[in-house]
Amino acid sequence: MHNHPDQPQQTAPTAAGPAQPAPPAQTDAADPQAQQQGDGNAPRRSDRPEPRPERPLKPALRRGWRRRCPNCGSGPLMKGFLKVRDHCPVCRETFSHHRADDGPAYLTILIVGHLSAPLMGSVWMAWQPEPLVLFTVFAIGTVALSLYLLPRLKGAMVAFQWARYMHGFGAGGA
Ligand SMILES: [Zn+2]
Repeated sequence: MHNHPDQPQQTAPTAAGPAQPAPPAQTDAADPQAQQQGDGNAPRRSDRPEPRPERPLKPALRRGWRRRCPNCGSGPLMKGFLKVRDHCPVCRETFSHHRADDGPAYLTILIVGHLSAPLMGSVWMAWQPEPLVLFTVFAIGTVALSLYLLPRLKGAMVAFQWARYMHGFGAGGA
């Protein structure tokens, strides 16, 4: 909505001149001004990976799977069943940058489908139960497994994006 994604913001508040040209060193499109580590190593291009604190992947994935904040591990990641919070209530880490979209649903279908289809065949070959019994058991089982996996896979996916500085997670706290 507002116009900040391409413009460095520090050129605005000079009251006299209407449009001062931006200094050429700050034309980063992705990351306007906030390099919060002042190690003097200013990045020249926005596509070069910047020095950032390491975010270990495995603990983040484990915390996301448990639907906890990938940063501190104690704050809840979700509010409700699937809705990701905007911030961690404990450490104030921002989650609103995530782009999980339908990835968790894709993974859930992938896993549940690859488990249930061969299992159904094996059960049929082994015991040949009544079709209605087979249907009922697998209908309940697959729905239950999907509902179990979906929020956990979503948490893990958000944690993966956080740990890899993907999407807005890499934009320096914007
Ligand atoms: Zn946290």
